[in-house]
This record gives sequence, C-alpha cells and structure tokens, in this order.
Amino acid sequence: MNSSLSERDQNSLKEAGKKQKENRKKLLQLKKQRPKQINEQFNSLHEKEFETMDCLKCGNCCKTTSPIFRNADINRLSKHLRMKSGAFTEKYLKLDEDNDYVLKKSPCTFLNDDNTCRVYDDRPLACREYPHTDRKNVVQILDLTVENTIVCPAVARIVQQICRPK
Ligand code: SF4
Ligand code: SF4
Repeated sequence: MNSSLSERDQNSLKEAGKKQKENRKKLLQLKKQRPKQINEQFNSLHEKEFETMDCLKCGNCCKTTSPIFRNADINRLSKHLRMKSGAFTEKYLKLDEDNDYVLKKSPCTFLNDDNTCRVYDDRPLACREYPHTDRKNVVQILDLTVENTIVCPAVARIVQQICRPK
C-alpha cells in the first residue's frame, strides 16, 4: 500500500479489497436491473468525489498500475521526448498478457516526486480518462471498475456508495 495516502484513502482501498467479489456481483446485478440509473449514479458520484479529491496528494494510479499505450500515445510521447518510437518502446514498455503495451515498471517513470506528470500534455489517453467513472457507459467496463477500487480511493468510495447505499 502507498503509505503517503491519507488514512481515509487507505481505509477505502482496504475495505474495497475485502469486498471486491461482493461488489462485482452486486454491480452485475444492478447492471441487469437498471443500467441507465447506474451509469447516472457513477457519473454524479464521480463529480462529487473529485470535487474534494486531490490527485496530487494521491498519485496511487501512477504509482501502482500502468496505462495502456496505444500507437498514437507512443508516437506522441516519443516525439515529446525526441526519441524514435521504437527506442521509446524498447526503453519503457513491454507487452502484457492481452498484447497491449504497458510500462515495464511502476511507479511510472514519468511521475515526479510531487505527483505531477513529466509528460502531462502528451500523456496517454488512458491516463487522461482514468479512472473512467465519468464515462457515459460505465456499465460496459464494470470489471475494470472493480479492479480500480483497489487502486483509486475515489472509485472505492463511489462503488461502496452504489453497492451499499446508506
Ligand atoms: S504518464 Fe503521467 S499520468 Fe500517466 S501514469 Fe505516468 S505519470 Fe501518471
Ligand atoms: S485518479 Fe484516483 S488513484 Fe489516481 S491520483 Fe486521482 S484519486 Fe488517486
């Protein structure tokens, strides 16, 4: 666990880790029953969470997981770093089990000590869109969203509120 996280964020991730299986089951059930409402709920809770969540105090996604690098991302980033795309790929990336390019190591090599991104303007699309809970159709990516509950404290709390409303 990333020890620089606040106690609240650490607790949210721990709780989500314990409830991962249960949350997956519940979300799949809700998806079948009322997909439109669940999408809307994700979107409004996302907005609410990120009104107060300061990503620069967290950085857990950049520290513990890798975005997928599409060809367009590789071309843009290698240009940014004035490298050939082949050299960029060889230096920083590997193929994962789904045959997607991901970072060879984490934390991300482009993450600065203050949690800012060294290549922010040219970062991969997956970084721009993370954690995807503001997508119009979140129910299409429920497996990924449940995976993200153990990475992103905001997603952990969003899923917690949808699965176990008070
Ligand atoms: S490229 Fe930037 S935003 Fe993406 S994982 Fe690395 S540090 Fe984070
Ligand atoms: S997106 Fe989530 S995991 Fe990433 S820095 Fe923001 S709160 Fe943390």
